Amino acid sequence: MATIEMQHIVKRYGDGFPAVNDVSIDVEDGEFLILVGPSGCGKSTLLRMIVGLEDITSGNMLIGGKRVNDLAPRDRKLAMVFQNYALYPHLTVYENIAFPLRLAGEKNDVVDQKVREASAVLELDEHLQRKPANLSGGQRQRVAMGRAIVRDADAFLFDEPLSNLDAKLRGQMRTEIARLQKRLGITTVYVTHDQTEAMTLGTRVAVLKRGVLQQLATPRELYDNPGNLFVAGFIGSPPMNFLPATVEGTTLKLPFGEVQLPADKAAKATGRGLLIAGVRPEHFADAAAPSARDVSDANTFDATVDVVEWLGNETYAYIPFEAPPEVQEHLAELERDLDGESLRTQLVITLDGSTQLSEGDTVKVWVNAEKIHLFDPGSGENLTVDLDHAGTIPAVEAARAAEEDQSA
Ligand code: ATP
Repeated sequence: MATIEMQHIVKRYGDGFPAVNDVSIDVEDGEFLILVGPSGCGKSTLLRMIVGLEDITSGNMLIGGKRVNDLAPRDRKLAMVFQNYALYPHLTVYENIAFPLRLAGEKNDVVDQKVREASAVLELDEHLQRKPANLSGGQRQRVAMGRAIVRDADAFLFDEPLSNLDAKLRGQMRTEIARLQKRLGITTVYVTHDQTEAMTLGTRVAVLKRGVLQQLATPRELYDNPGNLFVAGFIGSPPMNFLPATVEGTTLKLPFGEVQLPADKAAKATGRGLLIAGVRPEHFADAAAPSARDVSDANTFDATVDVVEWLGNETYAYIPFEAPPEVQEHLAELERDLDGESLRTQLVITLDGSTQLSEGDTVKVWVNAEKIHLFDPGSGENLTVDLDHAGTIPAVEAARAAEEDQSA
């Protein structure tokens, strides 16, 4: 097992385009780190530079404290599991798992012991003599992982390993990978564009946008304290609501009405002109619902629901609103960055599944002012983020360093 340190890693392809731009991430020994972001954000390129399949333009890559920039992939003691598993169809499961050991010229008894240990962990014992074509997607996935396990690698690297599977199997395999990684305690870097995988598997999650690290934090920190609009919009489903807002004193003006903010939050945003307020769907409530008994009349507003989606355990209610063109422009740009995630000018609120609300009803909505985020529309920066609980936000860190330089 080993640590992986990425120090100011840059990758420029032939046309000069920076696919990975000054990314620094320390992966701790035994950690499960997720690289996540929309298509083209550079996550696969970064993974391929860890493994050695791609040259590093500048920066240092350290594995177990040793610089590996110039080491060939086979000398890095890493095991990579690809999206398409790359199993040999003519070989049995046993021989597929044994393949790296045969290649290394291991003796038969060593091969046998390692294959059987891996197959016991992966519950593949009864399939050892079968061919990959006769296995389910999940079983094939486990064979591919078996091949990684027998190599006694310092770290596992996964590149979207579940994206070929159907939704149900994906869920099962996700739990299986989590369980296995915990049992083996092996340092793991896992690339995905799926935020559910990111949130459920990762000890920490690195969110990338156009080659630049946006935030590195635990899933909970990302969810509760997104550093900017991009992270806020990327993590969470349904996504965070974004509304035009202004703050004067402690009063927050939203399209639906006024909300009183906690003083410390208001102080960070007052007098800054037009902002974007971010509120997660579950931080609204139906003020008349029994579950909202303790909700006071403050911070409530009346709204007409135009669509209701009942999912059994919860209900999504949609409420359209107007946004000025400049906010719409920022939201349209964010939509493009998020790879088409729809952020239309409508509020989505999550209500209890027992609600009897129907389309066209007017509902008294309460909003939890403690949970509102306020973003600068230009930079996207979260003005109200709790920096003690937000992990690493490189842009904020760079700004701080620049400030310190100036005052020095
Ligand atoms: P996806 O999920 O779609 O695979 P990704 O986040 O893994 O996306 P990368 O494959 O790392 O993204 O690509 C990052 C950027 O680098 C993209 O803009 C891509 O076009 C560019 N890129 C990748 N490989 C090459 C290459 N061989 N030559 C030139 N540009 C490349």
